[in-house]
Amino acid sequence: MMQNLEILVEKAKKVRENAYAPYSKFKVGAAVLADDGKVYTGANVENVSYGLTVCAERVAVFKAVSEGARQIRAVAIVADTDKPISPCGACRQVLLEFAAKECKVIMANLKGEQVTKSIDELIPYSFTKEDL
Ligand SMILES: [Zn+2]
Repeated sequence: MMQNLEILVEKAKKVRENAYAPYSKFKVGAAVLADDGKVYTGANVENVSYGLTVCAERVAVFKAVSEGARQIRAVAIVADTDKPISPCGACRQVLLEFAAKECKVIMANLKGEQVTKSIDELIPYSFTKEDL
């Protein structure tokens, strides 16, 4: 599993180069390990209408789900930040929707620093399917 997580970070770092971020210049890459055993990657995609921008993590999750995956075992997120990049609130809610109970969220930067948290640590007292 540990080796898989390192591969995820490497894939997130690589796909980051495909980010479409002409406005913010803030490139982010993400890679999710899905329950089908496959890795799905995503980069942030901005729009001239700024609010339409989609974060890298959501691109990766939506790619996985649209290919038939339904659960995420781990996700890695990488950006060129001083401290390891942290997912925004919207992405935390989207990750929660598909996260396996033991899902790890690996936050990293280009300096090689990493912080790993569980999804519950990132979004405590969350709104879930069980609340409907
Ligand atoms: Zn986000």
